[in-house]
Amino acid sequence: MLDIRIEKTTAPKELPKADNPLKFGTIFTDHMFIMNYKTGKGWHDARIVPYQPISLEPSAMVFHYGQAMFEGLKAYKAENGRVLLFRPDKNIERANKTNQRLCIPEIPAEDFLQALKTVVKTEEAWIPHKPGTSLYIRPFAIATDPFLGVRPADTYMFIIILSPVGAYYPEGLNPVKIWIEDEYVRAVRGGIGEAKTGGNYAASLKSQVKAHDEGYSQVLWLDGVERKYIEEVGAMNIFFKINGTVVTPKLNGSILPGVTRDTVIQLCKAWDLPVQERRISIEEIYEAHKNGTLEEVFGTGTAAVISPVGQLRWEQHIMKIKDGGIGEFSQKFYDTITGIQLGKLEDKFNWAVEVR
Ligand SMILES: *Cc1c(COP(=O)(O)O)cnc(C)c1O
Repeated sequence: MLDIRIEKTTAPKELPKADNPLKFGTIFTDHMFIMNYKTGKGWHDARIVPYQPISLEPSAMVFHYGQAMFEGLKAYKAENGRVLLFRPDKNIERANKTNQRLCIPEIPAEDFLQALKTVVKTEEAWIPHKPGTSLYIRPFAIATDPFLGVRPADTYMFIIILSPVGAYYPEGLNPVKIWIEDEYVRAVRGGIGEAKTGGNYAASLKSQVKAHDEGYSQVLWLDGVERKYIEEVGAMNIFFKINGTVVTPKLNGSILPGVTRDTVIQLCKAWDLPVQERRISIEEIYEAHKNGTLEEVFGTGTAAVISPVGQLRWEQHIMKIKDGGIGEFSQKFYDTITGIQLGKLEDKFNWAVEVR
């Protein structure tokens, strides 16, 4: 058990008004969780303090060599007043896999969960109520030694900040247009593609800007070696329904292992819907689209849960999916997952975890 000291703010902010659209990642709650690490001492000084700037030396290692882990999950206000997290154990496990890959000390799983629950409880009043809204939780760890040499740091901070967020699709699911990138790559096997770390996003910005300029909202990455096999979308994993079978790229070391991805795969199995994790070439998708067997395409991630894809662009080919509409299964996955997250549907898998 962590001994978490709680220092409450003396200047609480006004809670967002009910009509505030809560644009993703723009509003932060009154408090945050912090703990420190030092080699020899371990993680220590767990505390919840007023949300405020942190002070680091300009030489802090994270600024120069990017030794940083982040996570993303959500807390929901369930109908009967319960506060629920969705599969937080999966985020904690993934955070520690990222930590291992980046030589950041692991955070004991039970301490991590206690920190999540305690900070969410402290900020319970900030969890929005409207359908589709939630409290986004951003845990992250950074290397803080004031040192310009390249080696794993000896000091770290682990921080959790919270942000009330609006419905990703306020008017219901809305298909996105996706640009298939064939010039730049995001990650290669053996690299850090399967770690949740900022560097992967820095590497993605150039393509994202290009895609936006062309009128596409996100980028779909191909593998870093042959630029032939499908990997994932900017911040989402990708699924295709081809001739009755749901397929998604196999975790190969360069794809981020999404919690929502795993959730969809488990639902397919529970529904006896054939599902395959395997290599998928872009030619296969193009052929399936041409011969009419590409039934649905959707992305999965915590922010949007399910993001139907209405259009794919690969080289000069524009593939319209479902005439730009929403697939039956995309909608069914969305309704089921959000239903469990909000405590409205039976939770056979014990995915919802009560904060109190
Ligand atoms: C976080 C993330 C995802 C989605 O993971 P979820 O656990 O489902 O939110 C997919 N791809 C990348 C690159 C990510 O960073």
